[in-house]
Amino acid sequence: MKDIKDYITSYPDYPNKGIIFKDLLGLLREPYIFRDLIDKMASSQGIQDSDAILAIEARGFIFGSAIAFQSGKPMVVARKPNKLPGELINKEYELEYGTNILSIQKDSIKKFQKFNIVDDVLATGGTAKCATDLLMLEGKEVAGYSMVIEINALNGRKKLTGPVLSQLIV
Ligand code: AMP
Repeated sequence: MKDIKDYITSYPDYPNKGIIFKDLLGLLREPYIFRDLIDKMASSQGIQDSDAILAIEARGFIFGSAIAFQSGKPMVVARKPNKLPGELINKEYELEYGTNILSIQKDSIKKFQKFNIVDDVLATGGTAKCATDLLMLEGKEVAGYSMVIEINALNGRKKLTGPVLSQLIV
């Protein structure tokens, strides 16, 4: 039985020295593996208990939209600067080198209270924490996090408030 780890490629020193980049795109080239992965993620308690999924740009969109389709849950997005029109909530967060900003459209989250945050990789947790802060600024709850891979040594889950379900912990 093939495992998702057989379709994930590690690239040392990309995009910066010392980072082992996890390339998950191989999963998309294996429809049966991808479908199993999405079935598993979509049926998790964390997704079932949420009102909506918040997917993080960019690879979070790939997994988030498939989970939304499979679970029947609505999906909203957190994006990088200058991508979203309308009234936004913005928050800056730390990257390994410098900072970045994530934004959510205020109107997009109005109807929902409990969110599950979806991304491809949980590394330091800064990105998922920023998405959490954005929702909390608007009085929303984060019911949990769904990640494809979690890099255990970076202890990203320590920064997060709800349960984290990762399909592969490396
Ligand atoms: P972090 O904020 O450190 O948890 O990083 C999470 C975000 O950066 C995710 O959106 C990932 O797509 C990306 N990322 C961080 N580290 C890696 C890695 N080693 N391989 C692939 N993507 C990564």
